[in-house]
Amino acid sequence: MELTVVSQSDIRTVVTSLRQALFTSQSESTVLAVSYHWCFKRGYSSAFLAVIILLSGLTTVNTMFTGGLRFLRLGHRLCSFKHARFLLRGPHTWVHQFPIAQSSRQSPVDLRSSETHFDAKLQPLNYDDKATSSRMLNNNGLSFKLSFDDSSDPCVLNGGPLDGDFRLNQLHMHWGCDKLPGSEHIVDGNAYAAELHMVHWNSSKYSSMQQAVTQPDGLAVIGVFIQVGKEHEHKELKKITDLLPKITNEGSKIELSGLNPLLLLPSSTAYWTYLGSLTTPPLHESVTWIVMKEPLSISKQQLKAIQSLYFLRSGKYERLLNNNRPPQPLAGRKIRASFK
Ligand SMILES: [Zn+2]
Repeated sequence: MELTVVSQSDIRTVVTSLRQALFTSQSESTVLAVSYHWCFKRGYSSAFLAVIILLSGLTTVNTMFTGGLRFLRLGHRLCSFKHARFLLRGPHTWVHQFPIAQSSRQSPVDLRSSETHFDAKLQPLNYDDKATSSRMLNNNGLSFKLSFDDSSDPCVLNGGPLDGDFRLNQLHMHWGCDKLPGSEHIVDGNAYAAELHMVHWNSSKYSSMQQAVTQPDGLAVIGVFIQVGKEHEHKELKKITDLLPKITNEGSKIELSGLNPLLLLPSSTAYWTYLGSLTTPPLHESVTWIVMKEPLSISKQQLKAIQSLYFLRSGKYERLLNNNRPPQPLAGRKIRASFK
């Protein structure tokens, strides 16, 4: 899952340090250079930087309008560059920028049968079946992402291990390559070809995805394992895989309406659940994971279409493969199963 979110404490920290820098008579260019560095170190965008410049009173209104635009453009370019470098360096380096990567509630994990416990109290998952509000399919350079309208026509998940209603915001996938499987969660050491993630946020408690994503009970993500079946293509997923050749390059998008996310769930309702995190930076520990036991079967051609997306690296397009984070330590967490 990929999200960039700014916390209130981060804004306070950077505004305070900018004000201090001004009081100690450092030049504006030095202060801006330092704040750019601060933003990039944390993966924040140039829009965020513009907000903190305004809040800190660093520049006059005149400078904001004449020079601000240039800074935004430069920031955007640098952010894109950093994003590519970020992928290049891979998950093992994330800890340098995101110390939470080594924390005790990280995802994915190995769902070992020796570590899982049947919990008779776990309710079946419940989905509002009016949900057909998919809007835009895009290639964000990390995966394909199908966004849903979670304001006017929300698709709501509740039940299972969840307390309250969770609105579907987006779905995306992680995959490997010709030679390697690419699911993020694994089962007793065994990986599947790919893994679909359906990302929901807690609308009973929070007012938006952005607000929920940093909270310990903010998100619920359903993970569905994907395997290549002998012959059948998956009909509902075909609505996505048929359009992937039209969004081959990072940054491209196409409208897709009428996909029913319920039809991307396996027929068995059995699942594992545990408390974890986003699996891409900023790795917030805000996810109640629900990983379905039964995989979905897709055709070889469908997997090939998924593995034919490209991302930008140093100005060149490269195949987007192996976009899965390896399993993280369970660190004493309990994995509950809805089945024996
Ligand atoms: Zn994901």
